[in-house]
Amino acid sequence: MSALFDRVAHVKGTIAEACERANRSPAEVKLVAVTKTVPTDIIEQAYGAGLRVFGENRVQEAQPKIGKLPADIEWHFIGHLQSNKAKVCAGLFDVIHSVDSVRLGKRLAARAAAGQSIRMLLQVNLTGKTSQSGFAPEEVGAAVAALAGESGVALEGLMTIAPQVTDCEAVRPWFRQLADLYRDLAATAAGHPWRHLSMGMTEDYPIAIEEGATLVRVGRALFGERPA
Ligand SMILES: *Cc1c(COP(=O)(O)O)cnc(C)c1O
Repeated sequence: MSALFDRVAHVKGTIAEACERANRSPAEVKLVAVTKTVPTDIIEQAYGAGLRVFGENRVQEAQPKIGKLPADIEWHFIGHLQSNKAKVCAGLFDVIHSVDSVRLGKRLAARAAAGQSIRMLLQVNLTGKTSQSGFAPEEVGAAVAALAGESGVALEGLMTIAPQVTDCEAVRPWFRQLADLYRDLAATAAGHPWRHLSMGMTEDYPIAIEEGATLVRVGRALFGERPA
């Protein structure tokens, strides 16, 4: 328990330091605590340590957990989403980081309650590796254009997963590229609450913050290594 409290404090301190280096306010950066494989009793402890924003990457795993946890938690979906799970996902989660096709965005939007919108980020695959989902950088503009006019869609920004590298400085150019793309597209997302750059995980969130991240998705630094 106290180990978890210490880790939460450490991550928050590291976020504050990165903000200071980048001349940003810590209020601009939201910590999304990634709880995939983490049991609900530990998530409750994290809640007790003050965390209120959690991320899960599988609908099936998240559904029973969300039902057992306090209702004032903000849930973020960060995994690859199959179309047939879009309906359930839209009902469970507050923000979806991983919209990787126009079709999926429209499917989610169709599940918005009357007069409401689904908050979504478009996932960008910067490396071109086929193991990762997401729009290619040159496709994102068309996706924003296609979704911007849909009722039920609230475009909030972009998300990426940086490649794994041994020297974490090597990810900086990828984060910078996403930040540039974000700035270019902001003007084309008029009328949308464009405000989030979701990038940075345990290995690289300080660098992501230096490059403009507003949502960092941190799992292991808070909860320890996941089972293999
Ligand atoms: C698991 C996961 C994270 C968290 O990764 P850590 O290395 O544990 O911080 C962040 N983003 C996505 C999309 C993930 O699947």
